Amino acid sequence: MEDPKTGRLLVCATPIGNLGDVTLRVLDALREADVTLAEDTRVTRKLFARYGIDTPLERFDETVAAAKTPRVLERVASGETVALVSDAGTPGISDPGSRLIAACVERGLEVEVLPGPSAVITALVASGLPTHAFFFGGFLPRKAGERERLLRAVAELDATLVFFESPRRLAAALASIGEAMPGRRAAVARELTKVHEEVARGPVEELARRFAECEVKGEVVVVIGPPEEAPARVAADELASEVEALVQSGMSRSDAVKHVARLRGVPRSQVYDSAHEAKRRDEQGS
Ligand code: SAM
Repeated sequence: MEDPKTGRLLVCATPIGNLGDVTLRVLDALREADVTLAEDTRVTRKLFARYGIDTPLERFDETVAAAKTPRVLERVASGETVALVSDAGTPGISDPGSRLIAACVERGLEVEVLPGPSAVITALVASGLPTHAFFFGGFLPRKAGERERLLRAVAELDATLVFFESPRRLAAALASIGEAMPGRRAAVARELTKVHEEVARGPVEELARRFAECEVKGEVVVVIGPPEEAPARVAADELASEVEALVQSGMSRSDAVKHVARLRGVPRSQVYDSAHEAKRRDEQGS
Protein backbone atom coordinates (compact mmCIF):
# COMPACT_ATOMS: atom_id res chain seq x y z
CA MET A 1 0.00 0.00 0.00
CA GLU A 2 1.25 3.43 -0.93
CA ASP A 3 1.89 5.82 1.94
CA PRO A 4 -0.95 8.35 1.63
CA LYS A 5 1.26 10.99 3.22
CA THR A 6 3.81 10.86 0.40
CA GLY A 7 3.36 13.94 -1.69
CA ARG A 8 4.44 14.02 -5.32
CA LEU A 9 4.86 16.34 -8.20
CA LEU A 10 3.33 14.69 -11.26
CA VAL A 11 4.68 16.18 -14.48
CA CYS A 12 1.94 15.49 -17.01
CA ALA A 13 2.35 15.69 -20.78
CA THR A 14 -0.77 16.92 -22.57
CA PRO A 15 -1.78 17.04 -26.26
CA ILE A 16 0.02 19.35 -28.73
CA GLY A 17 -3.19 19.79 -30.73
CA ASN A 18 -5.42 16.78 -30.97
CA LEU A 19 -7.14 16.40 -27.59
CA GLY A 20 -7.31 12.64 -28.15
CA ASP A 21 -3.56 12.43 -27.58
CA VAL A 22 -3.64 12.20 -23.81
CA THR A 23 -2.73 9.10 -21.86
CA LEU A 24 -5.10 7.27 -19.52
CA ARG A 25 -2.51 7.67 -16.81
CA VAL A 26 -2.43 11.46 -17.21
CA LEU A 27 -6.24 11.63 -17.07
CA ASP A 28 -6.24 9.59 -13.84
CA ALA A 29 -3.52 11.81 -12.39
CA LEU A 30 -5.43 15.00 -13.21
CA ARG A 31 -8.59 13.54 -11.67
CA GLU A 32 -6.81 12.55 -8.49
CA ALA A 33 -4.45 15.47 -7.97
CA ASP A 34 -5.10 17.88 -5.11
CA VAL A 35 -4.30 20.67 -7.52
CA THR A 36 -3.15 21.02 -11.12
CA LEU A 37 -0.71 23.80 -11.90
CA ALA A 38 -1.36 25.06 -15.41
CA GLU A 39 0.47 27.52 -17.65
CA ASP A 40 -2.83 29.01 -18.85
CA THR A 41 -5.86 27.74 -16.96
CA ARG A 42 -8.18 28.61 -19.89
CA VAL A 43 -6.26 26.23 -22.17
CA THR A 44 -6.19 23.43 -19.60
CA ARG A 45 -9.88 23.91 -18.85
CA LYS A 46 -10.64 22.78 -22.42
CA LEU A 47 -8.84 19.50 -21.74
CA PHE A 48 -10.63 19.18 -18.39
CA ALA A 49 -14.01 19.85 -20.04
CA ARG A 50 -13.38 17.26 -22.75
CA TYR A 51 -12.68 14.57 -20.13
CA GLY A 52 -15.08 15.72 -17.40
CA ILE A 53 -12.35 16.64 -14.92
CA ASP A 54 -13.19 19.21 -12.26
CA THR A 55 -10.30 19.13 -9.80
CA PRO A 56 -8.77 22.49 -8.76
CA LEU A 57 -6.67 24.36 -11.31
CA GLU A 58 -4.14 27.07 -10.50
CA ARG A 59 -2.16 29.34 -12.75
CA PHE A 60 1.58 28.58 -12.83
CA ASP A 61 3.22 30.45 -15.70
CA GLU A 62 6.67 32.04 -15.94
CA THR A 63 5.44 35.27 -14.37
CA VAL A 64 4.29 33.63 -11.12
CA ALA A 65 6.45 30.50 -11.00
CA ALA A 66 9.22 31.91 -8.82
CA ALA A 67 6.81 33.44 -6.30
CA LYS A 68 4.62 30.34 -6.08
CA THR A 69 7.38 27.73 -5.94
CA PRO A 70 7.97 27.78 -2.13
CA ARG A 71 4.24 27.24 -1.48
CA VAL A 72 4.10 24.39 -4.02
CA LEU A 73 7.09 22.73 -2.35
CA GLU A 74 5.32 23.01 1.01
CA ARG A 75 2.20 21.38 -0.42
CA VAL A 76 4.17 18.46 -1.86
CA ALA A 77 6.18 18.12 1.35
CA SER A 78 2.97 18.00 3.38
CA GLY A 79 1.71 15.04 1.36
CA GLU A 80 -0.32 16.60 -1.45
CA THR A 81 -0.28 15.40 -5.04
CA VAL A 82 0.44 18.32 -7.31
CA ALA A 83 0.05 17.87 -11.07
CA LEU A 84 1.93 20.13 -13.45
CA VAL A 85 0.83 20.73 -17.06
CA SER A 86 1.72 23.27 -19.72
CA ASP A 87 -0.47 24.56 -22.56
CA ALA A 88 0.73 21.77 -24.83
CA GLY A 89 3.18 18.91 -24.79
CA THR A 90 5.67 18.10 -22.07
CA PRO A 91 6.19 20.64 -19.27
CA GLY A 92 9.80 21.77 -18.95
CA ILE A 93 10.46 21.56 -22.69
CA SER A 94 10.62 25.27 -23.64
CA ASP A 95 7.76 25.60 -21.17
CA PRO A 96 7.43 26.48 -17.48
CA GLY A 97 8.25 23.67 -15.12
CA SER A 98 11.93 22.86 -15.23
CA ARG A 99 12.78 25.13 -12.28
CA LEU A 100 9.96 23.69 -10.18
CA ILE A 101 11.12 20.17 -11.00
CA ALA A 102 14.70 21.13 -10.07
CA ALA A 103 13.48 22.65 -6.79
CA CYS A 104 11.58 19.45 -5.89
CA VAL A 105 14.60 17.31 -6.74
CA GLU A 106 16.83 19.60 -4.70
CA ARG A 107 14.53 19.25 -1.70
CA GLY A 108 14.33 15.48 -2.05
CA LEU A 109 10.64 15.48 -3.00
CA GLU A 110 9.24 12.86 -5.32
CA VAL A 111 8.87 13.83 -8.96
CA GLU A 112 7.13 11.53 -11.38
CA VAL A 113 6.94 12.20 -15.10
CA LEU A 114 3.91 10.93 -16.97
CA PRO A 115 5.18 10.87 -20.55
CA GLY A 116 3.20 11.78 -23.60
CA PRO A 117 3.23 14.18 -26.54
CA SER A 118 5.99 16.60 -27.35
CA ALA A 119 6.36 18.61 -30.55
CA VAL A 120 10.09 17.79 -30.51
CA ILE A 121 9.77 14.03 -30.94
CA THR A 122 6.68 14.26 -33.14
CA ALA A 123 8.44 16.61 -35.60
CA LEU A 124 11.70 14.64 -35.52
CA VAL A 125 9.95 11.39 -36.40
CA ALA A 126 7.63 13.00 -38.97
CA SER A 127 10.61 14.63 -40.73
CA GLY A 128 11.84 11.28 -42.03
CA LEU A 129 15.38 12.43 -41.20
CA PRO A 130 17.82 10.24 -39.21
CA THR A 131 16.91 9.70 -35.59
CA HIS A 132 20.08 7.93 -34.38
CA ALA A 133 21.06 11.14 -32.60
CA PHE A 134 19.40 14.52 -32.37
CA PHE A 135 20.08 17.92 -30.92
CA PHE A 136 17.15 19.96 -29.63
CA GLY A 137 17.98 23.65 -29.51
CA GLY A 138 14.69 25.09 -28.18
CA PHE A 139 13.59 28.31 -29.88
CA LEU A 140 16.07 29.70 -32.41
CA PRO A 141 17.41 33.10 -31.32
CA ARG A 142 15.33 36.00 -32.67
CA LYS A 143 18.30 38.11 -33.68
CA ALA A 144 19.86 37.15 -37.01
CA GLY A 145 23.46 37.48 -35.72
CA GLU A 146 22.88 35.23 -32.71
CA ARG A 147 20.93 32.76 -34.82
CA GLU A 148 23.71 32.52 -37.37
CA ARG A 149 26.36 32.03 -34.68
CA LEU A 150 24.37 29.22 -33.12
CA LEU A 151 23.73 27.55 -36.47
CA ARG A 152 27.41 27.66 -37.38
CA ALA A 153 28.29 26.18 -33.98
CA VAL A 154 26.01 23.16 -34.47
CA ALA A 155 26.38 22.73 -38.24
CA GLU A 156 28.86 19.86 -38.04
CA LEU A 157 27.19 17.85 -35.28
CA ASP A 158 26.54 14.29 -36.37
CA ALA A 159 22.91 14.64 -35.36
CA THR A 160 19.59 15.80 -36.69
CA LEU A 161 18.85 19.30 -35.39
CA VAL A 162 15.44 20.30 -34.05
CA PHE A 163 14.39 23.88 -33.35
CA PHE A 164 11.18 25.65 -32.46
CA GLU A 165 10.51 28.77 -34.49
CA SER A 166 7.74 31.32 -34.72
CA PRO A 167 5.82 31.29 -38.02
CA ARG A 168 6.72 34.98 -38.56
CA ARG A 169 10.46 34.28 -38.51
CA LEU A 170 10.35 30.94 -40.33
CA ALA A 171 11.48 32.20 -43.75
CA ALA A 172 14.36 34.22 -42.28
CA ALA A 173 15.41 31.25 -40.13
CA LEU A 174 15.40 28.90 -43.13
CA ALA A 175 17.51 31.40 -45.08
CA SER A 176 20.05 31.47 -42.21
CA ILE A 177 20.09 27.66 -42.10
CA GLY A 178 20.69 27.57 -45.87
CA GLU A 179 23.68 29.88 -45.41
CA ALA A 180 25.16 27.90 -42.51
CA MET A 181 24.39 24.45 -43.89
CA PRO A 182 23.93 24.61 -47.66
CA GLY A 183 22.16 21.71 -49.28
CA ARG A 184 20.98 20.15 -46.04
CA ARG A 185 17.85 18.07 -46.14
CA ALA A 186 15.31 19.61 -43.80
CA ALA A 187 11.66 19.57 -42.80
CA VAL A 188 9.17 22.09 -41.52
CA ALA A 189 6.52 20.46 -39.33
CA ARG A 190 3.52 22.73 -38.91
CA GLU A 191 0.35 22.34 -36.86
CA LEU A 192 1.20 18.77 -35.87
CA THR A 193 -1.78 16.60 -34.89
CA LYS A 194 -4.15 19.43 -35.86
CA VAL A 195 -6.56 19.79 -38.78
CA HIS A 196 -4.06 21.70 -40.92
CA GLU A 197 -1.05 19.51 -40.15
CA GLU A 198 1.67 19.80 -42.77
CA VAL A 199 5.18 18.39 -43.00
CA ALA A 200 7.18 20.03 -45.81
CA ARG A 201 10.40 18.21 -46.64
CA GLY A 202 13.27 19.05 -48.98
CA PRO A 203 16.59 20.85 -49.30
CA VAL A 204 16.65 23.79 -46.92
CA GLU A 205 17.00 26.32 -49.78
CA GLU A 206 13.84 24.99 -51.39
CA LEU A 207 11.93 25.27 -48.09
CA ALA A 208 13.30 28.79 -47.59
CA ARG A 209 11.98 29.86 -51.02
CA ARG A 210 8.66 28.19 -50.43
CA PHE A 211 7.99 29.71 -47.01
CA ALA A 212 9.20 33.15 -48.13
CA GLU A 213 6.38 33.19 -50.65
CA CYS A 214 3.45 32.74 -48.29
CA GLU A 215 2.16 33.87 -44.94
CA VAL A 216 2.97 31.10 -42.49
CA LYS A 217 0.37 30.32 -39.85
CA GLY A 218 0.31 28.08 -36.82
CA GLU A 219 2.99 26.38 -34.77
CA VAL A 220 6.20 25.32 -36.38
CA VAL A 221 9.17 23.03 -35.75
CA VAL A 222 12.22 23.09 -38.02
CA VAL A 223 14.21 19.87 -38.44
CA ILE A 224 17.60 19.75 -40.19
CA GLY A 225 19.37 16.56 -41.23
CA PRO A 226 22.96 15.80 -40.15
CA PRO A 227 25.90 16.68 -42.43
CA GLU A 228 26.30 13.22 -43.91
CA GLU A 229 22.67 13.31 -44.88
CA ALA A 230 23.30 16.26 -47.18
CA PRO A 231 23.83 15.09 -50.74
CA ALA A 232 27.39 16.25 -50.25
CA ARG A 233 29.04 13.17 -51.57
CA VAL A 234 28.02 13.67 -55.18
CA ALA A 235 30.99 12.46 -57.17
CA ALA A 236 33.48 15.25 -57.76
CA ASP A 237 33.82 14.24 -61.41
CA GLU A 238 30.10 14.57 -61.94
CA LEU A 239 30.06 18.08 -60.49
CA ALA A 240 33.08 19.07 -62.55
CA SER A 241 31.63 17.82 -65.82
CA GLU A 242 28.33 19.61 -65.15
CA VAL A 243 30.22 22.86 -64.58
CA GLU A 244 32.28 22.28 -67.71
CA ALA A 245 29.17 21.64 -69.83
CA LEU A 246 27.63 24.92 -68.66
CA VAL A 247 30.89 26.80 -69.31
CA GLN A 248 31.01 25.29 -72.81
CA SER A 249 27.45 26.50 -73.40
CA GLY A 250 28.55 30.08 -72.65
CA MET A 251 27.93 30.52 -68.91
CA SER A 252 30.66 32.15 -66.82
CA ARG A 253 32.58 29.71 -64.60
CA SER A 254 31.37 31.36 -61.38
CA ASP A 255 27.73 31.31 -62.52
CA ALA A 256 28.13 27.68 -63.55
CA VAL A 257 29.49 26.81 -60.08
CA LYS A 258 26.57 28.62 -58.41
CA HIS A 259 24.06 26.93 -60.68
CA VAL A 260 25.38 23.40 -60.11
CA ALA A 261 25.64 23.99 -56.34
CA ARG A 262 22.01 25.09 -56.21
CA LEU A 263 20.82 22.27 -58.43
CA ARG A 264 22.69 19.56 -56.55
CA GLY A 265 22.17 21.08 -53.11
CA VAL A 266 25.87 21.05 -52.24
CA PRO A 267 28.10 23.89 -50.99
CA ARG A 268 29.51 26.14 -53.70
CA SER A 269 32.99 25.55 -52.33
CA GLN A 270 32.63 21.81 -53.02
CA VAL A 271 31.59 22.41 -56.64
CA TYR A 272 34.34 24.97 -57.09
CA ASP A 273 36.99 22.60 -55.69
CA SER A 274 35.77 19.70 -57.86
CA ALA A 275 35.78 21.84 -61.03
CA HIS A 276 39.14 23.34 -60.16
CA GLU A 277 40.72 19.95 -59.52
CA ALA A 278 39.33 18.51 -62.79
CA LYS A 279 40.64 21.51 -64.74
CA ARG A 280 44.06 21.14 -63.15
CA ARG A 281 44.17 17.45 -64.03
CA ASP A 282 43.10 18.27 -67.58
CA GLU A 283 45.80 20.87 -67.95
CA GLN A 284 48.42 18.43 -66.70
CA GLY A 285 47.05 15.89 -69.19
CA SER A 286 46.38 13.30 -66.48
N1 SAM B 1 6.45 21.77 -24.20
C1 SAM B 1 6.02 21.73 -25.56
C2 SAM B 1 6.31 20.35 -26.15
O1 SAM B 1 6.82 19.49 -25.44
O2 SAM B 1 5.99 20.13 -27.32
C3 SAM B 1 6.65 22.84 -26.38
C4 SAM B 1 6.21 24.21 -25.93
S1 SAM B 1 6.92 25.56 -26.76
C5 SAM B 1 6.41 26.92 -25.76
C6 SAM B 1 5.83 25.82 -28.10
C7 SAM B 1 6.50 25.51 -29.44
O3 SAM B 1 6.42 24.11 -29.68
C8 SAM B 1 5.78 26.14 -30.62
O4 SAM B 1 6.22 27.46 -30.85
C9 SAM B 1 6.18 25.23 -31.75
O5 SAM B 1 7.49 25.52 -32.17
C10 SAM B 1 6.18 23.87 -31.03
N2 SAM B 1 4.86 23.24 -31.17
C11 SAM B 1 3.96 23.04 -30.18
N3 SAM B 1 2.87 22.42 -30.67
C12 SAM B 1 3.08 22.24 -31.98
C13 SAM B 1 2.34 21.66 -33.04
N4 SAM B 1 1.12 21.15 -32.84
N5 SAM B 1 2.87 21.64 -34.28
C14 SAM B 1 4.10 22.16 -34.51
N6 SAM B 1 4.86 22.72 -33.55
C15 SAM B 1 4.35 22.75 -32.31
